[in-house]
Amino acid sequence: MIIYNTLTRSKEEFVPLKKGVASIYSCGPTVYGYAHIGNMRTYVFMDFLRRVMKYNGLKLKHVMNVTDVGHLVSDADEGEDKVVRTAKETGKTPYEIAEYFSEVFFRDIALLNIEKPEIIAKATDNISEMIEYVEALVDKGFAYETSDGIYFDIMKFPGYGRLSRIDLEEQLAGSRVEVNEEKHHPADFALWKKASKEHIMQWPSPWGMGYPGWHIECSAMGRKYLGDIFDIHTGGVDHIPIHHENEIAQSEALAGKKTVNCWMHGEFLLVDNGKMSKSLGNTYTIADLQEKGFVPLAFRYFCMNAHYRSKLNFTWDSLRAAQTSLERLYEGVLAHKAAAASSSPAGVSVSAEAENCLKEFEEAINDDLNIPKALGIVWNTVKKSLKSKQIYDVLMKMDRVLGLDLDKAEEVMSGKSMGRQAEDQEVEKQVLELVDKRNKARAEKDWKTADEIRDILKAKGITIEDTPDGARIIKT
Ligand code: AMP
Ligand code: ZN
Repeated sequence: MIIYNTLTRSKEEFVPLKKGVASIYSCGPTVYGYAHIGNMRTYVFMDFLRRVMKYNGLKLKHVMNVTDVGHLVSDADEGEDKVVRTAKETGKTPYEIAEYFSEVFFRDIALLNIEKPEIIAKATDNISEMIEYVEALVDKGFAYETSDGIYFDIMKFPGYGRLSRIDLEEQLAGSRVEVNEEKHHPADFALWKKASKEHIMQWPSPWGMGYPGWHIECSAMGRKYLGDIFDIHTGGVDHIPIHHENEIAQSEALAGKKTVNCWMHGEFLLVDNGKMSKSLGNTYTIADLQEKGFVPLAFRYFCMNAHYRSKLNFTWDSLRAAQTSLERLYEGVLAHKAAAASSSPAGVSVSAEAENCLKEFEEAINDDLNIPKALGIVWNTVKKSLKSKQIYDVLMKMDRVLGLDLDKAEEVMSGKSMGRQAEDQEVEKQVLELVDKRNKARAEKDWKTADEIRDILKAKGITIEDTPDGARIIKT
């Protein structure tokens, strides 16, 4: 199996450190809000990596963290803690926020058939390991104390910037880094932050009450579960310049040697060819897709259209096309299943063809997870004119990597149409209730409420026309 290493910018043969076992660390979610489909693309990529490794007969020791403390609004140690901010906004405790959004996250990844890594490491369960880590870095002279925390001294680590290949001085000159006079270098980053009395999440440490920096969490938990060196570290491309650069600095400073053999990064999902952002209202979630009548696996299929190292553009039309293709794929699989059930005798040529398809498929997935190519081979396999058990068996084998539930084609298809019907009925009911409410408001001459309801309906694509015979509902 060949994989691309961001650190060396080249494809490399994957040779696990321990024979037969792949050790992987994936940066997981910061649980302060709903994960969007962009985040999900990165976890779908992580899942393909898992599945291809398992397909190749490897056992997995895979860790994913859940960040429930320490990820500040800016990745570069500025602003409020994201979880604490949501807690304040909603009047809940940070623990309640983290628990709720973790639950939603794991439900969403399950809907996408993303396997849960073997070890889920919660930051707040590993504070003592982080404190020990920071202490060791201070002892080794890589970190120093200021009035607001403990910082990593990047000038003590000559390899800083190796992953992103950035010229630090140039980057700093062009950016607006807020100057913290006490830092030795503007890019020094917090390992530990001292907490004010009012700060909600804080723990005792050799430097008083405080909380960990986001980057140290991954280094400490990776080391705890996978040891001083492991095979692969994954994340999205946005993590390359700060988060992963900082992880490398911390981990190598402590271990005195390389700690990760291969860094893999998933490219971004764009929406309408642009960035996803809350202000543009395009940070869609899996629930948003379901609300519009899509099955979550249509999004998984959609992700297969691009290689994980290429950008992928999301539009509703392209998701619709993915869902249609998925339905056709299920239909094709069912035809082979029917042939398998009637146990039609299959000639030698069918079995040779089936084997060839599988061989090509394996070559594609083992070439740096070339899933789009593999999907093309799946289609060639399905389209074989002679329907047969051998082809069906090969498709089932391929699905161990695809994760499209091809063995449950009937179930998924009936579930989808049923889901859509129920969805439609629910929307219909809501609209009728709103129209009724508006009629009542108008009868009471409460024009303000009537107008508000009209606006709500308009946002749902429903226009109300008041006619002498009553309200007429027009779907736009
Ligand atoms: P976060 O919870 O913000 O730390 O992000 C979780 C994961 O999603 C990280 O690995 C990010 O790199 C990744 N990510 C964030 N935005 C996108 C996007 N638009 N497309 C793909 N991955 C993303
Ligand atoms: Zn991380």
